[in-house]
Order: sequence, then structure tokens, then C-alpha cells
Amino acid sequence: MTKGKEEHAFRAELSQLLDLITHSLYKHPEVFLRELVSNASDALNRLRFRKLTDKNIIDPEADLEIRIETDEDKDTFSIEDTGIGMTKSQLIEDIGTVANSGTLKKLKEIRAQDKEIDADIIGRFGVGFYATFMVTDQVIIETRSAEPGAKAWRWISDGKSGYTIEESDREKRGTKISFKLDEDYEEFSNDARVKNVIKKYSNFVDFPIYINGNRENTIQALWRKKEKNISEEDLNEFYKFVTMDYQDPLGHLHLDLEGVVNFKALLFVPSQAPYDLFQDIQNKKGLHLYANRVFIQDDAGNELLPEYLRFISGVVDTKDLPLNISRETTQHSPAMSKIKNILAKKILGMLEDWAKNDPGKYEKFFKNFGPLFKTGINTDFSNKDRIMNLLRYESTHTDKGVYTSLQDYVERMDDEQDEIYYITGDNREVVEKNPNLEYFIDNGIEVLYFIHPVDALISSSLDEYEDKEFKSIEKADIDFDRTKKEKKSDQEELSGKPLESLIDVFKETLGNRVEDVKASKRLVSSPATLVVGKDGMDPQVERMMKMMNQQGNLNQKKILEINPSHPIIRNLNRLNIGNSTDETLRKTILQLYESTLLLDGNLDDPAEFVKRMNELMTKATE
Ligand code: ADP
Repeated sequence: MTKGKEEHAFRAELSQLLDLITHSLYKHPEVFLRELVSNASDALNRLRFRKLTDKNIIDPEADLEIRIETDEDKDTFSIEDTGIGMTKSQLIEDIGTVANSGTLKKLKEIRAQDKEIDADIIGRFGVGFYATFMVTDQVIIETRSAEPGAKAWRWISDGKSGYTIEESDREKRGTKISFKLDEDYEEFSNDARVKNVIKKYSNFVDFPIYINGNRENTIQALWRKKEKNISEEDLNEFYKFVTMDYQDPLGHLHLDLEGVVNFKALLFVPSQAPYDLFQDIQNKKGLHLYANRVFIQDDAGNELLPEYLRFISGVVDTKDLPLNISRETTQHSPAMSKIKNILAKKILGMLEDWAKNDPGKYEKFFKNFGPLFKTGINTDFSNKDRIMNLLRYESTHTDKGVYTSLQDYVERMDDEQDEIYYITGDNREVVEKNPNLEYFIDNGIEVLYFIHPVDALISSSLDEYEDKEFKSIEKADIDFDRTKKEKKSDQEELSGKPLESLIDVFKETLGNRVEDVKASKRLVSSPATLVVGKDGMDPQVERMMKMMNQQGNLNQKKILEINPSHPIIRNLNRLNIGNSTDETLRKTILQLYESTLLLDGNLDDPAEFVKRMNELMTKATE
């Protein structure tokens, strides 16, 4: 039998990652403990799952448990589980590599932004085991897989350059991880300190945890208790255990359903959205699936929640999955899709309840998860009306950061108004300066601000609410006469033949740059604005597409509207009467047009614009 030691180098990526972790996590050294317990618990869960269908494993009768031993005199720490263990190739594959290839990139990004890489981020990215190198400079893993006939292996690493692997004489199934603590972290050889951390983060682990021979945790399936018997403190602790979040949740939902499908669930809404909400949900763990109390998987959100609700964490426990389940059969089980439908409805019910009875809480939820939640409008047709009722927007009638619901908007509408108006843009400051808003402000008509990128993407699915159509105020076809108040006529308005003639000169000068030129009813203080034809693309969507695809020429032709009562337009009329080919007249028209492009963020050639402006200023100052 060969007992030779093999040396392996870490991949470059891993060394960098280790470096980042050890330098970023120093404020939360206890994290290593949580990660090691969580790995042990995973290994035990996997073993228990396998035992459901296959008793042909090493030590089939061994108790499923976690044992931690510390020695304060020698400053040593070890944690041992009777879980699934690792084969040699698993040791090399799983321990020597980073689970998620984007992890390093993301950590660097966060670091570059000077944000703190905290324990929470480490937990979510799944670099758990390596946190151990924060408290020691040498880790020994001894492990024996449950596979019949598997050999045992010893893995040793300093967490810097690489590791060695050799055969071990360990007989028991499972994994033992041991090390001597660095001087600065000797506290973790103290029994009481370790107990404390375990109580805080690992109290809900499904297997007994012993510290120096004493049983520490009380296993409790919290979701099986009656709501009235669950304390706030238990809820908070349980949430943190499931999600590895460090903050208390914003709220929870406890379900116990019997009928077409039977399940119990304890679900949570986090109080804060993760660093990158949309990416985070792709490989999010945190919705744990149990089949009659047996843990199946920790990332059941993909199967049990529609994407727009995937910020929800917690536990779902059902009697309705076959016992010989595998991940694949779980995914296609009819029980799963029934649970999924019910969960979506119940979660919406919880949000509706918050919106009605605790608006502050609902607003907090919406500020954090609104961008993701809103996408449900595009994807969940069966619940679209309910989601619509839960939408919130800033508007011309709210202060910055304050939201209105569609229902409140409709209640505030005048009788003559039969459309819901909105404007899209990057932020409140930008849309407030949009000339297309002038008419609405002047007439006191409320306009919703769609100022999150997602808003532009879902606006095409927002067709109507309570029989009122949604309408972008940047579109040409708005019936202004219907809502127009008494004209505050302090300015003379250009009209009739002279207006028609001036519009012709505009058309001739601008040629195919514009779809049309019209007299505007929406402008009050600006001379001109661009609007989109009835079937045109929302300007915000156009801007976003331009950003994503810079080489393409996506500029859609728009309609230029001019303000017949604006002094510039009236002055242009004078020039036009004198000589319709007047140079200043033509230049000013081009300048007006390009100013609207500039405001829209679509001016491609500022040099030409500035040159012309200088010429006009020279003329004006002569
Ligand atoms: P994560 O747990 O997020 O996958 P880790 O670096 O903590 O990341 O662990 C990497 C992998 O090593 C685990 O996914 C698992 O396959 C394996 N592993 C770690 N600890 C154990 C253990 N105690 N028993 C069996 N396998 C383990």
C-alpha cells in the first residue's frame, strides 16, 4: 500500500481569494465556526438523505452527530462529523477549488468600492471553509467517505500556496477538521466562547452538537410549532441560521396547510436587499426543503418560488414528496408546483397585509425588493392584479422618497382624466426637468415617475388599472383638450397661417431628422420638446438599449413639438416673415432641435452643437 504524500498547489484564483478573505474577515473571526458547523451539518444531511434509499454505506448504524473538542492548554480546536465524508477526488475537487467562479470577481468589486466585505457576504458566496485560515496557519482534514470500501485521507494545508494529501488510518466514516489556534485567536479553545457562538448561529442545526462531550443544542423544527408558541427571538435566530444573514428579518409568514397539498412553512423577508439583488437570486440558498422533517435541499427557491419572489427565505416541509426522492424527481413532482402556486399567493397576501396595516414596513420592503418584485408584472399573469395593487411610485404629487399606490393615484384623478400618466427617466431630478412634464405640472395633473431601470422594462406590460390606460407623457397621442384647464393667457400665441408657415420651415430645415413637426399643447415654459409616435419605443428603453449596444444606431425618429407662445418661436416667426431662408432662422431651428436631443441624452455630436451656438452668440452680441 502506498502511503506517499502528494503535494498540490492551489489555483492562482484560490490563493488570491484566501488572501482577500483573511484580510477582510478579521472583524468577525467567529465566522469560521459557523462555516465549519454548517459544512458538518450539510455532510450529515447528505448522508441521511442517502440512507433513505441505500443502506450500503460504511458505519450504517453510526449516530448522526457533530463533536467539537477544544483544549485550552494546547490551544487546539477540532470538529468531527459522522456525515458523508469525502473521497480523495472530492477532497481535491471540493476543497481545492472555489465553488462559484464569480466569487473572486465579486469580492474584488466590492473591495474596490471600499465596501466592507463582511461575514454575511462570505457566507453567501460559499467560501466557508477557508474562513478557518483566519484563526490558524495550518488545517488538517481527515476524512473517510461513506462509499463502501472507501479509503481514508489526510489533507494538510497552510492556506497559502497549496496542500498535501496522504492516506490516513481513520476508520470511522465522516470528517474531522483540526488545528492549533493562532495566538490572537486562542479564545476559540475556550469552551464557553465556543458554546456562545454555537448558540448564536447554529442552534437550529438538525443534529446533536457536543462540545467537549456535552450536548449543546436543542433540535427543534420551529416551523412545526404553533405560531403562538414561537418566540420572536426564536424566529430571529432561526432566520439567521437559515440565511446566514446577520440582521433580523423584516417579517415572517407561518403556514400550516392541509388539502390538495400538505405542507408547513416558515418564510422570511430579509430586512435588506443583498449587494446585487438580481444576480444574487440566481444561485441563492436559503429556502430549505424538507420531506417530512428530512432535509432535502437548501436552494429550493428555484423550484418553489417564482423569480420575482425569490428574496424569500425559510423552510418548507411537506409530506407529499415520495420518499425515494432525488433532486431530479423533486423538481418534477406535482406537489412542488402546487406548493409553488400556493406560496406565491400566500406571500402576496402577507405583503397586502403589510401594505394595509403596516405601511412603513411595506415601504421598507418595497424600497429594498421593489425592483425585483415589480418584474412579476411581466411574468406572473395569474397574480398580475394583486401585484399591480402592490406597486408604489414617486410622482409629481409626492415628495422625494415618498411613494403612492396606483389606487391612491386613481382616487386623486379629476373626473375628466381617464388615463394614468407616467414618465420614465434615470432619476427624479432628471424627469422633473423634462419639458414634457410642464403641461401636467401647470394643470395639476399627477404623473408617476418611473425612475428605476426595471420600470421602463415593465412599462409595456402595464396596460391598464381600474379601466384606466397607462400612458407615457412622452408619447404624441395625448388628448390635451380633455384635461386642459382655463388657459392662463398672459402670452400671445402664434397661430393660423404664420404658424403653419413656420412649421414648414422647421420641417424643411430638419428634413429626415424628425418624423414630424407640430404645434405643442404640452409645453409651458420650454420652446420645444421631442415626443414619441404612438407606437414608438419608450425613450428610456431606447436609452437603455443604446447603452447596451453602443455601435448600433438605435435613434428612433421622433416628433418635434414647438411652443407657439414661446418668445423664441414668436421671434422666429418674425424672421420667417422677413426671409424664410434667413441664416439665423435656420441655425436657431437646428439649435432648438439639438437642445431637445441634449436634454434627452441623445445628442451624438456636441462639437457641431457648440460651434453653432458660438456663431449665434457672436451674432447676438454684435
Ligand atoms: P460550501 O460549503 O459553501 O460549498 P466550503 O468551502 O465550506 O464551501 O466547502 C466546500 C465543499 O467541501 C463542500 O461543498 C463539501 O462538498 C466539502 N466539505 C466541506 N466540509 C465537509 C465535511 N465536513 N464533510 C464532507 N464534505 C465537506
